[in-house]
Amino acid sequence: MFDVVIVGAGFAGAVLAERFAAQADKKVLVIERRQRVAGNCFDEVDDNGILIHRYGPHLFHTDFVDVWNYLSQFTEWDVYHHRVKAMVDGQIVPIPFNFNTLQQVFPKLLADRLEGALLKNYGYGQKVPILELKKSADSLLHFLADYVYRKIFLHYTEKQWGKAPEQIDGAVTARVPIFIGRDDRYFNDRFQAVPRKGYTKLIENILAHKNIKLMLNTDSAEILNLREDEIYLFDQKFDGTVIYTGQLDELFNFKFGVLPYRSVEMKFETVNTEHYQEAPTVNYPDNYDFTRITEFKNIHPAQSPRTTILKEYPQNYVKGENEPYYPVFTDEARAAYEKYSAELAKFPQIHVVGRLAEYRYYDMDDVVKHALDIFTGLQA
Ligand code: FAD
Ligand code: UDP
Repeated sequence: MFDVVIVGAGFAGAVLAERFAAQADKKVLVIERRQRVAGNCFDEVDDNGILIHRYGPHLFHTDFVDVWNYLSQFTEWDVYHHRVKAMVDGQIVPIPFNFNTLQQVFPKLLADRLEGALLKNYGYGQKVPILELKKSADSLLHFLADYVYRKIFLHYTEKQWGKAPEQIDGAVTARVPIFIGRDDRYFNDRFQAVPRKGYTKLIENILAHKNIKLMLNTDSAEILNLREDEIYLFDQKFDGTVIYTGQLDELFNFKFGVLPYRSVEMKFETVNTEHYQEAPTVNYPDNYDFTRITEFKNIHPAQSPRTTILKEYPQNYVKGENEPYYPVFTDEARAAYEKYSAELAKFPQIHVVGRLAEYRYYDMDDVVKHALDIFTGLQA
């Protein structure tokens, strides 16, 4: 009946479904437990007439030309460069920390000296992770690193991960490096945009192929089962390809325990004013339980006398109670994942793709890139 079964209709599942259906003429079954496609990129117009991202703010950015060209077949784009500010000692300053931030938070004389030291030690246009800057022997840079660490990274990271920056993989805080220059965009990638009609529409377009059958409201465990080293679909032995984009621990019934993830409580609020804040996202490293506030009108302009904002409250993931948004980037967590990965090796038919399944801090473009590459690899 089906050649390929895909679990999950987020970016990973949708792209692979489309590739198998359109490029290899395979019959593809996509199983999705939610009522809607698009996974964590799901967006919809709310009661205020504003396009909101239900699972947190999603900004597309990529340097992968093949990813950009691929997705552009399914959507038009609105060019959009994300800008983030942070509330530091009562001031709203640009993030990533850059020369504009320096000039705003320090007296001019000191800011100029710090700029000079950064230029001398790293060079114009460079990005320096905070944990690297902290190692600097230069006394001026040491002072700066300590300031940025305390004001921007320490408490935000403690809220977001329940850990200090040193307790998680350095790549996490390196996502928001100190920027040596005046570019105060959140990303520097070549392509930056939002899909004109939203991510949900984009993913619906990717999935709109006659060879793809989509089953919503269906947990894969209801119809797809692993027995010994065999796979059963609707109680019949299945010899085709399986693409799995959910949690790997769940696929194996949590036999080695639940992998750690971080979750976030997303609290949307309607505010009775046309505009709420000066930037699309304002981070609150200190003082509040939430990490950031996003105002969606600043991403997707809309005519409305009201505005919708989202406050993100990080929390631990608890199975069955909230969503597993972020894999946890510690050595212990990686080791726990590797046990499941070894189990997976018994099923060469199954390929895991995506943020949950591969337990990686993938952005949307990384997921699409990986899905495209996996398909190419499987065809070779
Ligand atoms: P998902 O989107 O999680 O899709 C997996 C799908 O599988 C889900 O729909 C799930 O319901 C389904 N599923 C799982 N298990 C089963 C099962 N057993 N049976 C049936 N269905 C199942 N990326 C960016 O590029 N830019 C951003 O600005 C950005 N912001 C983000 C903000 C937040 C708060 C979060 C959490 C993520 C953000 N991301 C961002 C990352 C982005 O969400 C992911 O890269 C992308 O959604 C991953 O796609 P995926 O297909 O791997 O997983
Ligand atoms: N971070 C921080 N302060 C900030 C912004 C980011 O400490 O103002 C750290 C924090 O550890 C966060 C990580 O950098 O989890 C990555 O930030 P990013 O904005 O990329 O997180 P995401 O949008 O994926 O939640």
